[in-house]
Amino acid sequence: MLKHLTTAIAALLCFASAGAGLAQEKADPVQKVTAATPPPKLIVMIAVDQFSADLFAEYRPRFTGGLARLASGAVFPAGYQSHGATETCPGHSTILTGNHPANTGIIANNYFDPSTAREDKRLYCAEDESVAGTTSGSGKYAPSVKHLLVPTLGDLMKARDPKTQVVSVAGKDRAAIMMGGHQADEVMWLAPTGLASYRGTTLSPTAQQASSAIVAAIAQARPALTLPADCTAHDIAIPLEKGGTVGTGRFAREGGDFRRFMASPEADGAVLATAAALRQARKMGEGTGTDLLIVGLSATDYVGHSTGTEGSEMCLQMTAIDRELGDFFARLDATGIDYAVALTADHGGHDMPERNRQNAWPDAERVEKTLDPDMIGKEVGQKLGLPQPLLFSDGPFGDMYLSRTLTPAQRKAALAEITARFRAHRQVEMVATAEELAMRPISKQAPDTWSTLDKLRASFNPQRSGDFVVALKPRVTPIPESGMGYVATHGSVWDYDRRVPMLFWRKGLSGFEQPNAVMTVDILPTLAPLAGLTLDMNKIDGRCLDLLSGPESSCR
Ligand SMILES: [Zn+2]
Repeated sequence: MLKHLTTAIAALLCFASAGAGLAQEKADPVQKVTAATPPPKLIVMIAVDQFSADLFAEYRPRFTGGLARLASGAVFPAGYQSHGATETCPGHSTILTGNHPANTGIIANNYFDPSTAREDKRLYCAEDESVAGTTSGSGKYAPSVKHLLVPTLGDLMKARDPKTQVVSVAGKDRAAIMMGGHQADEVMWLAPTGLASYRGTTLSPTAQQASSAIVAAIAQARPALTLPADCTAHDIAIPLEKGGTVGTGRFAREGGDFRRFMASPEADGAVLATAAALRQARKMGEGTGTDLLIVGLSATDYVGHSTGTEGSEMCLQMTAIDRELGDFFARLDATGIDYAVALTADHGGHDMPERNRQNAWPDAERVEKTLDPDMIGKEVGQKLGLPQPLLFSDGPFGDMYLSRTLTPAQRKAALAEITARFRAHRQVEMVATAEELAMRPISKQAPDTWSTLDKLRASFNPQRSGDFVVALKPRVTPIPESGMGYVATHGSVWDYDRRVPMLFWRKGLSGFEQPNAVMTVDILPTLAPLAGLTLDMNKIDGRCLDLLSGPESSCR
Protein backbone atom coordinates (compact mmCIF):
# COMPACT_ATOMS: atom_id res chain seq x y z
CA MET A 1 0.00 0.00 0.00
CA LEU A 2 1.08 3.54 -0.67
CA LYS A 3 1.43 5.83 2.25
CA HIS A 4 -1.14 8.59 2.50
CA LEU A 5 1.42 11.30 2.09
CA THR A 6 -0.96 14.23 2.41
CA THR A 7 -2.15 12.77 5.66
CA ALA A 8 1.43 12.43 6.86
CA ILE A 9 2.18 16.11 6.25
CA ALA A 10 -1.33 17.14 7.32
CA ALA A 11 -0.72 15.51 10.67
CA LEU A 12 2.38 17.64 11.05
CA LEU A 13 0.25 20.66 10.25
CA CYS A 14 -2.31 19.65 12.92
CA PHE A 15 -5.44 20.33 10.91
CA ALA A 16 -6.58 16.81 10.10
CA SER A 17 -9.81 17.02 12.12
CA ALA A 18 -10.79 20.47 10.87
CA GLY A 19 -14.22 21.14 9.40
CA ALA A 20 -15.91 18.12 10.91
CA GLY A 21 -18.36 20.31 12.85
CA LEU A 22 -19.56 22.13 9.74
CA ALA A 23 -20.14 18.86 7.90
CA GLN A 24 -22.59 17.46 10.43
CA GLU A 25 -25.00 20.37 9.92
CA LYS A 26 -24.99 19.83 6.15
CA ALA A 27 -26.54 16.44 5.60
CA ASP A 28 -28.96 17.70 2.88
CA PRO A 29 -29.53 15.54 -0.19
CA VAL A 30 -27.43 16.54 -3.19
CA GLN A 31 -29.13 19.28 -5.23
CA LYS A 32 -28.72 19.01 -8.98
CA VAL A 33 -26.76 21.93 -10.39
CA THR A 34 -28.87 23.99 -12.84
CA ALA A 35 -28.54 27.39 -14.50
CA ALA A 36 -30.31 28.82 -11.43
CA THR A 37 -27.84 27.35 -8.90
CA PRO A 38 -25.92 30.16 -7.15
CA PRO A 39 -22.17 30.42 -7.78
CA PRO A 40 -19.98 28.00 -5.84
CA LYS A 41 -18.28 29.49 -2.77
CA LEU A 42 -14.90 28.20 -3.82
CA ILE A 43 -13.29 27.43 -7.16
CA VAL A 44 -10.34 25.04 -6.98
CA MET A 45 -8.10 25.13 -10.05
CA ILE A 46 -5.63 22.26 -10.23
CA ALA A 47 -2.86 21.94 -12.82
CA VAL A 48 -0.97 18.65 -12.92
CA ASP A 49 2.36 19.27 -14.64
CA GLN A 50 2.89 16.96 -17.67
CA PHE A 51 -0.41 15.12 -17.09
CA SER A 52 -0.91 14.27 -20.77
CA ALA A 53 -4.18 13.11 -22.30
CA ASP A 54 -2.26 9.87 -22.91
CA LEU A 55 -1.57 9.37 -19.19
CA PHE A 56 -5.18 10.19 -18.36
CA ALA A 57 -6.44 7.66 -20.92
CA GLU A 58 -4.01 4.97 -19.79
CA TYR A 59 -4.75 5.26 -16.07
CA ARG A 60 -8.39 6.39 -16.13
CA PRO A 61 -9.82 2.86 -15.62
CA ARG A 62 -7.59 2.44 -12.55
CA PHE A 63 -8.47 5.69 -10.79
CA THR A 64 -10.56 5.21 -7.66
CA GLY A 65 -9.81 8.46 -5.76
CA GLY A 66 -9.84 12.14 -6.67
CA LEU A 67 -9.25 11.61 -10.37
CA ALA A 68 -12.09 9.09 -10.53
CA ARG A 69 -14.36 11.72 -8.99
CA LEU A 70 -13.30 14.35 -11.54
CA ALA A 71 -13.69 11.80 -14.36
CA SER A 72 -17.36 11.51 -13.36
CA GLY A 73 -17.94 15.23 -14.03
CA ALA A 74 -17.82 17.19 -17.28
CA VAL A 75 -14.95 15.47 -19.07
CA PHE A 76 -13.03 16.85 -22.05
CA PRO A 77 -10.48 14.11 -22.79
CA ALA A 78 -9.16 16.00 -25.84
CA GLY A 79 -8.14 19.31 -24.28
CA TYR A 80 -5.32 21.15 -26.01
CA GLN A 81 -2.51 23.37 -24.96
CA SER A 82 -2.92 24.39 -28.56
CA HIS A 83 0.28 26.42 -29.05
CA GLY A 84 3.63 25.18 -30.35
CA ALA A 85 6.04 25.78 -27.44
CA THR A 86 4.54 23.22 -25.04
CA GLU A 87 6.57 24.15 -21.98
CA THR A 88 5.57 24.67 -18.37
CA CYS A 89 5.49 28.45 -18.14
CA PRO A 90 3.51 29.06 -21.36
CA GLY A 91 1.14 26.20 -20.50
CA HIS A 92 0.37 27.53 -17.03
CA SER A 93 -0.05 31.03 -18.49
CA THR A 94 -2.99 29.88 -20.68
CA ILE A 95 -4.97 28.10 -17.96
CA LEU A 96 -6.46 31.03 -16.03
CA THR A 97 -6.06 33.84 -18.58
CA GLY A 98 -8.05 32.53 -21.56
CA ASN A 99 -5.16 33.62 -23.78
CA HIS A 100 -2.58 31.89 -25.94
CA PRO A 101 1.09 32.52 -25.11
CA ALA A 102 1.16 34.93 -28.08
CA ASN A 103 -0.98 37.22 -25.89
CA THR A 104 0.06 36.20 -22.37
CA GLY A 105 3.61 37.06 -23.46
CA ILE A 106 4.91 33.86 -21.85
CA ILE A 107 6.32 32.34 -25.03
CA ALA A 108 8.71 29.86 -23.39
CA ASN A 109 10.24 28.95 -20.03
CA ASN A 110 13.31 30.92 -21.06
CA TYR A 111 13.58 33.43 -23.84
CA PHE A 112 16.13 36.03 -24.84
CA ASP A 113 16.31 39.77 -24.89
CA PRO A 114 19.62 40.45 -26.63
CA SER A 115 19.13 44.17 -25.96
CA THR A 116 18.61 43.91 -22.17
CA ALA A 117 21.07 45.86 -20.03
CA ARG A 118 21.86 42.77 -17.96
CA GLU A 119 24.91 40.76 -18.99
CA ASP A 120 22.81 37.56 -18.97
CA LYS A 121 20.57 38.03 -22.01
CA ARG A 122 18.44 35.02 -21.15
CA LEU A 123 15.19 35.79 -19.32
CA TYR A 124 13.37 33.31 -17.14
CA CYS A 125 9.62 33.63 -17.72
CA ALA A 126 8.87 34.35 -14.06
CA GLU A 127 11.70 36.68 -13.06
CA ASP A 128 12.34 40.39 -12.72
CA GLU A 129 15.62 40.86 -14.57
CA SER A 130 15.84 44.50 -13.49
CA VAL A 131 16.71 43.43 -9.92
CA ALA A 132 20.42 44.07 -9.43
CA GLY A 133 22.73 41.09 -9.11
CA THR A 134 20.36 38.55 -10.67
CA THR A 135 20.77 36.11 -13.55
CA SER A 136 18.23 33.77 -15.13
CA GLY A 137 19.88 30.69 -13.61
CA SER A 138 18.03 28.51 -11.15
CA GLY A 139 18.01 30.07 -7.69
CA LYS A 140 19.69 33.26 -8.94
CA TYR A 141 16.71 35.22 -10.26
CA ALA A 142 14.11 37.36 -8.50
CA PRO A 143 10.72 35.61 -8.96
CA SER A 144 8.15 37.93 -10.52
CA VAL A 145 4.86 37.99 -12.41
CA LYS A 146 5.84 41.05 -14.44
CA HIS A 147 6.23 39.22 -17.77
CA LEU A 148 2.59 38.04 -17.72
CA LEU A 149 0.80 40.58 -19.93
CA VAL A 150 -2.84 39.73 -19.16
CA PRO A 151 -4.99 39.37 -16.02
CA THR A 152 -5.85 35.99 -14.52
CA LEU A 153 -9.21 34.80 -13.22
CA GLY A 154 -8.08 35.77 -9.73
CA ASP A 155 -7.14 39.28 -10.89
CA LEU A 156 -10.58 39.72 -12.48
CA MET A 157 -12.41 38.36 -9.43
CA LYS A 158 -10.46 40.71 -7.18
CA ALA A 159 -11.11 43.67 -9.48
CA ARG A 160 -14.82 42.99 -9.09
CA ASP A 161 -14.70 42.39 -5.35
CA PRO A 162 -11.49 43.14 -3.44
CA LYS A 163 -12.65 40.82 -0.64
CA THR A 164 -12.28 37.82 -2.96
CA GLN A 165 -9.48 35.61 -1.69
CA VAL A 166 -6.98 34.18 -4.17
CA VAL A 167 -4.27 31.76 -3.04
CA SER A 168 -1.84 29.93 -5.32
CA VAL A 169 0.39 27.05 -4.15
CA ALA A 170 2.51 24.91 -6.45
CA GLY A 171 5.57 22.74 -6.66
CA LYS A 172 7.18 25.19 -9.11
CA ASP A 173 7.35 28.98 -8.89
CA ARG A 174 6.30 29.46 -12.53
CA ALA A 175 3.16 27.37 -11.97
CA ALA A 176 2.12 29.27 -8.83
CA ILE A 177 2.94 32.65 -10.40
CA MET A 178 1.39 32.21 -13.86
CA MET A 179 -1.89 30.87 -12.46
CA GLY A 180 -1.93 33.15 -9.40
CA GLY A 181 -1.57 36.32 -11.46
CA HIS A 182 -0.88 39.89 -10.35
CA GLN A 183 -3.16 40.28 -7.33
CA ALA A 184 -3.13 36.97 -5.43
CA ASP A 185 -3.19 37.21 -1.63
CA GLU A 186 -0.60 34.47 -1.22
CA VAL A 187 1.65 32.84 -3.83
CA MET A 188 4.13 30.14 -2.84
CA TRP A 189 6.04 27.15 -4.13
CA LEU A 190 8.23 24.34 -2.85
CA ALA A 191 11.89 25.08 -2.19
CA PRO A 192 14.74 23.43 -0.25
CA THR A 193 13.69 25.76 2.58
CA GLY A 194 10.15 24.34 2.53
CA LEU A 195 8.00 27.03 0.93
CA ALA A 196 9.22 30.17 -0.84
CA SER A 197 7.49 33.27 -2.22
CA TYR A 198 8.50 36.53 -3.88
CA ARG A 199 11.60 38.21 -2.49
CA GLY A 200 10.71 40.68 0.20
CA THR A 201 7.42 39.03 1.14
CA THR A 202 6.99 37.04 4.33
CA LEU A 203 5.01 33.82 4.46
CA SER A 204 1.78 33.95 6.46
CA PRO A 205 1.87 32.11 9.80
CA THR A 206 0.00 29.14 8.30
CA ALA A 207 2.37 29.00 5.34
CA GLN A 208 5.32 29.20 7.71
CA GLN A 209 3.90 26.30 9.69
CA ALA A 210 3.43 24.30 6.48
CA SER A 211 6.95 25.22 5.40
CA SER A 212 8.43 23.87 8.64
CA ALA A 213 6.45 20.64 8.27
CA ILE A 214 7.73 20.26 4.70
CA VAL A 215 11.34 20.88 5.78
CA ALA A 216 10.90 18.17 8.42
CA ALA A 217 9.43 15.79 5.82
CA ILE A 218 12.34 16.42 3.41
CA ALA A 219 14.84 15.77 6.21
CA GLN A 220 13.41 12.31 6.84
CA ALA A 221 14.63 9.40 4.70
CA ARG A 222 11.83 7.65 2.82
CA PRO A 223 11.64 3.89 2.37
CA ALA A 224 10.74 2.44 -1.02
CA LEU A 225 7.04 2.38 -1.90
CA THR A 226 5.48 -1.02 -2.56
CA LEU A 227 4.53 -1.50 -6.18
CA PRO A 228 0.78 -2.13 -6.59
CA ALA A 229 -0.05 -5.35 -8.47
CA ASP A 230 -1.46 -3.44 -11.46
CA CYS A 231 1.87 -1.62 -11.91
CA THR A 232 4.06 -4.73 -12.28
CA ALA A 233 3.82 -4.78 -16.09
CA HIS A 234 5.62 -1.39 -16.08
CA ASP A 235 8.49 -2.67 -13.95
CA ILE A 236 11.16 -3.12 -16.64
CA ALA A 237 14.66 -1.64 -16.36
CA ILE A 238 15.74 0.54 -19.29
CA PRO A 239 19.51 1.14 -19.52
CA LEU A 240 20.74 4.74 -19.94
CA GLU A 241 23.59 5.84 -22.20
CA LYS A 242 25.45 7.54 -19.36
CA GLY A 243 25.02 4.53 -17.04
CA GLY A 244 22.29 3.39 -14.67
CA THR A 245 18.74 2.34 -15.44
CA VAL A 246 15.23 3.72 -15.02
CA GLY A 247 11.84 2.02 -15.08
CA THR A 248 11.93 0.10 -11.81
CA GLY A 249 12.09 2.97 -9.29
CA ARG A 250 10.20 3.05 -5.99
CA PHE A 251 10.95 6.61 -4.71
CA ALA A 252 13.22 5.56 -1.84
CA ARG A 253 15.46 8.47 -0.85
CA GLU A 254 17.98 9.65 1.71
CA GLY A 255 17.01 12.23 4.31
CA GLY A 256 17.54 15.77 2.98
CA ASP A 257 17.46 14.85 -0.73
CA PHE A 258 15.31 17.73 -2.05
CA ARG A 259 15.60 16.75 -5.73
CA ARG A 260 14.25 13.27 -5.09
CA PHE A 261 11.58 14.68 -2.81
CA MET A 262 10.40 16.91 -5.67
CA ALA A 263 10.37 13.99 -8.14
CA SER A 264 8.12 11.89 -5.91
CA PRO A 265 4.46 11.82 -4.82
CA GLU A 266 5.56 13.41 -1.53
CA ALA A 267 5.89 16.80 -3.24
CA ASP A 268 2.28 16.79 -4.45
CA GLY A 269 1.13 15.71 -1.00
CA ALA A 270 2.97 18.66 0.51
CA VAL A 271 1.35 21.15 -1.91
CA LEU A 272 -2.15 19.76 -1.34
CA ALA A 273 -1.71 19.78 2.44
CA THR A 274 -0.51 23.39 2.30
CA ALA A 275 -3.44 24.41 0.09
CA ALA A 276 -5.91 22.76 2.47
CA ALA A 277 -4.28 24.44 5.47
CA LEU A 278 -4.39 27.88 3.85
CA ARG A 279 -8.02 27.43 2.82
CA GLN A 280 -8.91 26.62 6.38
CA ALA A 281 -6.87 29.39 8.00
CA ARG A 282 -8.26 32.03 5.64
CA LYS A 283 -11.82 30.59 5.79
CA MET A 284 -11.86 30.54 1.99
CA GLY A 285 -15.26 29.52 0.68
CA GLU A 286 -16.95 30.60 3.91
CA GLY A 287 -17.66 34.26 2.98
CA THR A 288 -20.37 35.88 0.85
CA GLY A 289 -18.57 35.70 -2.51
CA THR A 290 -16.54 33.12 -4.41
CA ASP A 291 -12.87 32.50 -3.54
CA LEU A 292 -10.19 30.92 -5.72
CA LEU A 293 -7.72 28.28 -4.56
CA ILE A 294 -5.03 27.40 -7.12
CA VAL A 295 -2.95 24.25 -6.86
CA GLY A 296 0.01 23.29 -9.06
CA LEU A 297 1.16 19.68 -8.72
CA SER A 298 4.61 19.32 -10.25
CA ALA A 299 5.78 15.82 -9.32
CA THR A 300 4.29 14.12 -12.41
CA ASP A 301 6.55 16.32 -14.55
CA TYR A 302 9.69 15.57 -12.55
CA VAL A 303 8.86 11.86 -12.66
CA GLY A 304 8.32 12.08 -16.43
CA HIS A 305 11.61 13.90 -17.03
CA SER A 306 13.72 11.71 -14.78
CA THR A 307 12.25 8.26 -15.55
CA GLY A 308 9.90 8.64 -18.54
CA THR A 309 6.15 8.16 -18.74
CA GLU A 310 5.73 4.38 -18.90
CA GLY A 311 7.80 2.89 -16.08
CA SER A 312 6.90 1.72 -12.60
CA GLU A 313 7.69 5.24 -11.35
CA MET A 314 4.85 6.88 -13.33
CA CYS A 315 2.48 4.07 -12.36
CA LEU A 316 3.25 4.75 -8.69
CA GLN A 317 2.91 8.50 -9.24
CA MET A 318 -0.50 8.14 -10.94
CA THR A 319 -1.69 5.86 -8.14
CA ALA A 320 -0.49 8.34 -5.54
CA ILE A 321 -1.84 11.53 -7.10
CA ASP A 322 -5.27 9.92 -7.47
CA ARG A 323 -5.24 9.07 -3.78
CA GLU A 324 -3.80 12.42 -2.68
CA LEU A 325 -6.50 14.28 -4.60
CA GLY A 326 -9.13 12.00 -3.08
CA ASP A 327 -7.88 12.88 0.42
CA PHE A 328 -7.85 16.57 -0.47
CA PHE A 329 -11.45 16.51 -1.76
CA ALA A 330 -12.59 14.51 1.26
CA ARG A 331 -11.18 17.26 3.45
CA LEU A 332 -13.05 19.89 1.43
CA ASP A 333 -16.25 17.80 1.57
CA ALA A 334 -15.99 17.74 5.35
CA THR A 335 -16.32 21.54 5.45
CA GLY A 336 -19.69 21.46 3.67
CA ILE A 337 -18.53 24.25 1.33
CA ASP A 338 -20.05 24.24 -2.17
CA TYR A 339 -16.92 24.07 -4.31
CA ALA A 340 -16.19 23.53 -8.01
CA VAL A 341 -13.00 21.93 -9.33
CA ALA A 342 -11.26 22.25 -12.67
CA LEU A 343 -8.20 20.14 -13.45
CA THR A 344 -5.91 20.22 -16.44
CA ALA A 345 -2.21 20.17 -17.36
CA ASP A 346 0.32 22.67 -18.64
CA HIS A 347 1.41 20.31 -21.46
CA GLY A 348 1.57 16.62 -22.25
CA GLY A 349 4.69 14.53 -22.57
CA HIS A 350 6.54 11.88 -24.51
CA ASP A 351 8.28 8.80 -23.21
CA MET A 352 12.02 8.18 -23.54
CA PRO A 353 12.99 6.88 -27.01
CA GLU A 354 14.79 3.84 -25.54
CA ARG A 355 11.49 2.53 -24.13
CA ASN A 356 9.58 3.65 -27.23
CA ARG A 357 11.93 1.46 -29.27
CA GLN A 358 11.27 -1.54 -27.00
CA ASN A 359 7.53 -1.02 -27.40
CA ALA A 360 6.81 -0.97 -31.12
CA TRP A 361 8.20 2.49 -32.02
CA PRO A 362 11.62 1.62 -33.53
CA ASP A 363 12.04 5.09 -35.12
CA ALA A 364 11.94 7.09 -31.87
CA GLU A 365 15.30 8.80 -31.41
CA ARG A 366 17.29 11.49 -29.63
CA VAL A 367 18.38 14.73 -31.20
CA GLU A 368 21.76 14.62 -32.92
CA LYS A 369 24.62 16.68 -31.52
CA THR A 370 25.01 18.29 -34.97
CA LEU A 371 21.87 20.29 -34.12
CA ASP A 372 23.64 22.22 -31.35
CA PRO A 373 22.73 25.92 -31.96
CA ASP A 374 25.87 27.18 -30.17
CA MET A 375 28.02 25.22 -32.60
CA ILE A 376 25.99 26.34 -35.61
CA GLY A 377 26.22 29.97 -34.45
CA LYS A 378 30.01 29.70 -34.08
CA GLU A 379 30.50 28.05 -37.49
CA VAL A 380 28.33 30.57 -39.33
CA GLY A 381 29.97 33.46 -37.47
CA GLN A 382 33.40 32.27 -38.57
CA LYS A 383 32.29 31.66 -42.15
CA LEU A 384 30.71 35.11 -42.52
CA GLY A 385 33.23 36.95 -40.35
CA LEU A 386 30.61 38.07 -37.81
CA PRO A 387 31.12 38.92 -34.12
CA GLN A 388 30.34 36.30 -31.43
CA PRO A 389 28.05 35.39 -29.79
CA LEU A 390 25.93 35.36 -32.94
CA LEU A 391 23.06 33.07 -31.99
CA PHE A 392 21.15 32.87 -28.68
CA SER A 393 18.94 29.85 -27.90
CA ASP A 394 17.77 27.64 -25.06
CA GLY A 395 18.46 24.35 -26.87
CA PRO A 396 18.19 22.61 -30.26
CA PHE A 397 14.61 23.77 -30.95
CA GLY A 398 12.30 26.67 -30.18
CA ASP A 399 13.01 30.41 -30.39
CA MET A 400 16.42 31.48 -31.71
CA TYR A 401 17.76 35.03 -31.60
CA LEU A 402 20.47 36.76 -33.64
CA SER A 403 22.86 39.20 -32.02
CA ARG A 404 21.55 42.79 -31.99
CA THR A 405 24.98 44.16 -32.93
CA LEU A 406 24.65 43.11 -36.59
CA THR A 407 24.11 45.55 -39.47
CA PRO A 408 20.94 44.88 -41.52
CA ALA A 409 23.08 43.28 -44.25
CA GLN A 410 24.93 41.08 -41.75
CA ARG A 411 21.64 40.08 -40.13
CA LYS A 412 20.18 39.10 -43.49
CA ALA A 413 23.21 37.01 -44.41
CA ALA A 414 23.38 35.31 -41.00
CA LEU A 415 19.65 34.54 -40.97
CA ALA A 416 19.81 33.00 -44.45
CA GLU A 417 22.85 30.84 -43.66
CA ILE A 418 21.68 29.68 -40.21
CA THR A 419 18.09 28.90 -41.19
CA ALA A 420 19.37 27.01 -44.26
CA ARG A 421 21.53 24.82 -41.98
CA PHE A 422 18.61 24.05 -39.68
CA ARG A 423 16.25 23.39 -42.61
CA ALA A 424 18.74 20.96 -44.16
CA HIS A 425 18.93 18.83 -40.99
CA ARG A 426 17.00 15.57 -41.24
CA GLN A 427 15.50 15.96 -37.74
CA VAL A 428 14.02 19.42 -38.39
CA GLU A 429 10.35 19.67 -39.32
CA MET A 430 10.10 23.41 -39.89
CA VAL A 431 11.93 26.69 -39.50
CA ALA A 432 9.56 29.66 -39.31
CA THR A 433 10.83 33.23 -39.30
CA ALA A 434 9.38 36.04 -37.17
CA GLU A 435 8.33 37.81 -40.38
CA GLU A 436 6.32 34.77 -41.51
CA LEU A 437 4.64 34.33 -38.13
CA ALA A 438 3.85 38.04 -37.68
CA MET A 439 1.82 38.06 -40.90
CA ARG A 440 -0.36 35.15 -39.84
CA PRO A 441 -3.58 35.50 -37.81
CA ILE A 442 -4.09 33.18 -34.81
CA SER A 443 -6.23 30.25 -35.91
CA LYS A 444 -9.87 30.26 -34.85
CA GLN A 445 -10.34 26.62 -35.90
CA ALA A 446 -10.52 23.65 -33.52
CA PRO A 447 -6.99 22.91 -32.26
CA ASP A 448 -6.84 19.34 -33.61
CA THR A 449 -6.86 20.77 -37.16
CA TRP A 450 -4.03 23.28 -36.68
CA SER A 451 -0.99 23.28 -38.97
CA THR A 452 2.53 23.45 -37.52
CA LEU A 453 2.60 27.15 -38.49
CA ASP A 454 -0.72 27.72 -36.64
CA LYS A 455 0.78 26.18 -33.51
CA LEU A 456 3.95 28.27 -33.73
CA ARG A 457 1.84 31.39 -34.33
CA ALA A 458 -0.09 30.90 -31.07
CA SER A 459 3.31 30.99 -29.30
CA PHE A 460 4.55 34.03 -31.22
CA ASN A 461 4.78 37.41 -29.54
CA PRO A 462 6.47 40.04 -31.72
CA GLN A 463 8.22 41.74 -28.78
CA ARG A 464 9.59 38.55 -27.26
CA SER A 465 9.86 35.78 -29.84
CA GLY A 466 13.03 34.84 -31.66
CA ASP A 467 14.15 35.88 -35.12
CA PHE A 468 13.17 32.35 -36.11
CA VAL A 469 11.71 29.24 -34.50
CA VAL A 470 12.84 25.64 -35.06
CA ALA A 471 10.37 22.73 -34.76
CA LEU A 472 11.73 19.18 -34.63
CA LYS A 473 10.22 16.15 -36.35
CA PRO A 474 7.84 13.99 -34.28
CA ARG A 475 9.39 11.61 -31.75
CA VAL A 476 12.78 13.33 -31.77
CA THR A 477 13.61 13.78 -28.08
CA PRO A 478 15.62 17.02 -27.70
CA ILE A 479 17.95 15.53 -25.06
CA PRO A 480 21.10 14.27 -26.88
CA GLU A 481 22.06 11.65 -24.27
CA SER A 482 20.04 9.92 -21.56
CA GLY A 483 21.46 10.20 -18.07
CA MET A 484 20.20 9.82 -14.52
CA GLY A 485 17.68 12.58 -13.76
CA TYR A 486 16.86 13.60 -17.34
CA VAL A 487 15.70 11.07 -19.93
CA ALA A 488 12.45 12.33 -21.47
CA THR A 489 10.72 15.64 -22.11
CA HIS A 490 8.03 17.72 -23.88
CA GLY A 491 7.98 21.12 -25.57
CA SER A 492 7.27 20.03 -29.15
CA VAL A 493 4.49 21.00 -31.57
CA TRP A 494 3.20 17.40 -31.60
CA ASP A 495 -0.04 16.22 -30.07
CA TYR A 496 1.57 14.02 -27.42
CA ASP A 497 2.83 17.31 -25.94
CA ARG A 498 -0.29 19.39 -26.73
CA ARG A 499 -3.11 17.14 -25.60
CA VAL A 500 -4.22 17.33 -21.96
CA PRO A 501 -7.39 16.33 -20.13
CA MET A 502 -9.78 19.08 -19.00
CA LEU A 503 -12.03 17.96 -16.14
CA PHE A 504 -14.74 19.93 -14.32
CA TRP A 505 -16.56 18.72 -11.24
CA ARG A 506 -19.03 20.13 -8.74
CA LYS A 507 -21.37 18.34 -6.36
CA GLY A 508 -24.70 17.83 -8.14
CA LEU A 509 -23.26 18.48 -11.62
CA SER A 510 -24.47 15.83 -14.07
CA GLY A 511 -21.49 14.29 -15.77
CA PHE A 512 -20.96 14.11 -19.52
CA GLU A 513 -18.17 13.37 -21.94
CA GLN A 514 -17.27 15.67 -24.84
CA PRO A 515 -14.51 14.08 -26.91
CA ASN A 516 -14.27 16.92 -29.44
CA ALA A 517 -11.17 19.07 -29.22
CA VAL A 518 -11.27 22.02 -26.81
CA MET A 519 -8.51 24.27 -25.45
CA THR A 520 -7.06 25.24 -22.10
CA VAL A 521 -7.75 28.86 -23.11
CA ASP A 522 -11.42 27.88 -22.75
CA ILE A 523 -11.02 27.32 -18.99
CA LEU A 524 -11.15 30.98 -17.90
CA PRO A 525 -14.27 31.81 -19.98
CA THR A 526 -15.84 28.60 -18.62
CA LEU A 527 -15.12 29.36 -14.96
CA ALA A 528 -15.86 33.10 -15.08
CA PRO A 529 -19.65 32.79 -15.57
CA LEU A 530 -19.66 30.10 -12.88
CA ALA A 531 -18.37 32.82 -10.53
CA GLY A 532 -20.90 35.31 -11.92
CA LEU A 533 -18.17 37.27 -13.70
CA THR A 534 -18.73 38.91 -17.11
CA LEU A 535 -15.72 38.94 -19.43
CA ASP A 536 -14.80 41.20 -22.33
CA MET A 537 -14.58 38.37 -24.87
CA ASN A 538 -12.55 40.60 -27.22
CA LYS A 539 -9.68 40.07 -24.80
CA ILE A 540 -10.04 36.27 -24.66
CA ASP A 541 -8.79 33.65 -27.14
CA GLY A 542 -10.99 30.86 -25.75
CA ARG A 543 -14.73 30.33 -25.40
CA CYS A 544 -17.10 29.27 -22.63
CA LEU A 545 -17.71 25.51 -22.44
CA ASP A 546 -21.25 24.75 -21.30
CA LEU A 547 -20.90 22.49 -18.27
CA LEU A 548 -24.62 21.73 -17.92
CA SER A 549 -25.67 18.52 -19.62
CA GLY A 550 -28.95 18.95 -21.51
CA PRO A 551 -30.51 22.15 -22.93
CA GLU A 552 -29.52 24.46 -20.05
CA SER A 553 -26.23 26.34 -20.28
CA SER A 554 -23.69 27.46 -17.70
CA CYS A 555 -22.44 30.09 -20.18
CA ARG A 556 -24.10 33.48 -20.01
ZN1 LIG B 1 5.42 21.48 -17.11
